[in-house]
Amino acid sequence: MSSTVDLQGSAQPPQGEPVIEVEDVRRVYGRPRSGLFGKAASVTALDGVSLTVHRGEKLGIVGESGCGKSTLLRIVAGLHRPTSGRVRVEGREVTGSDRDLAWLRRRLQVVFQDPMSSLDPRMRVGDIIAEPLVGLRVEGDHRARVAELLEAVGLDAEAAERYPHMFSGGQRQRISIARALAPRPQVLLADEPVSALDVSVRAQVLNVVERLVADLDLTLVFVSHDLSVVRHVCERVVVMTRGRIVEEGPTEQVYTHPRHDYTKALVAAVPSVRRALTEERGVG
Ligand code: ADP
Ligand code: MG
Repeated sequence: MSSTVDLQGSAQPPQGEPVIEVEDVRRVYGRPRSGLFGKAASVTALDGVSLTVHRGEKLGIVGESGCGKSTLLRIVAGLHRPTSGRVRVEGREVTGSDRDLAWLRRRLQVVFQDPMSSLDPRMRVGDIIAEPLVGLRVEGDHRARVAELLEAVGLDAEAAERYPHMFSGGQRQRISIARALAPRPQVLLADEPVSALDVSVRAQVLNVVERLVADLDLTLVFVSHDLSVVRHVCERVVVMTRGRIVEEGPTEQVYTHPRHDYTKALVAAVPSVRRALTEERGVG
């Protein structure tokens, strides 16, 4: 489902029912006192963010490092609590309670930036991928499911017997993707999933994400500090700076006709990734 843009630049509203609803979310992090008489400083990571993601949509969230992207994603995933405001997934409020989280994990999964720190080095890949199935008590043949998932992300079945350190960064991120998809979620949140990878393998991993999102009809929220990466994956984008959303629209429109000064700066600073992606995809 893609939004179409007419020549005046107005877009068709996103179709489909709301899957994620973020309502005026604020998140303040406390900072420890600096010294005996120092004031306890605090950081406002999110300053009144509202956002709706519709079924089947591929939404990008872009903005500079520290603007609050990961905080927002973690709050949607129930991993952090908002200081105020509300989040609903499929109409059900995300409260952070164990019961709600167990419910949420079957519907919504997250892929993080650094595949090494999110994969337990002492576990075999097959057990890593099956872990959410065990944790969520998903019934069925887990070994068969792991084999299916490995194939889906483009890895050999023998990978199940090996350990994370035996794989490249790109392969490890494929493993993270396989694990996230194991419980058949309908929503995938990806937090800079290719930012830690060599430029040469980014396009391949992005292709895996894109293909699976399309094949499985997932709703995707894709976070990146890099607008050019989001442009290849997402039809709609929101731009964040300093804990706020400052611009929102069809990706192509935001990219070619940025309105907010911050977005203009972001577009002007297009990194080489875009060229690398275009070249690789041109060949492949
Ligand atoms: P982004 O993902 O866009 O880089 P983050 O959500 O990680 O941004 O961070 C937003 C702001 O909140 C930053 O100023 C960061 O330093 C701060 N922050 C994030 N996590 C914590 C934490 N656990 N404790 C204190 N401050 C934090
Ligand atoms: Mg982040």
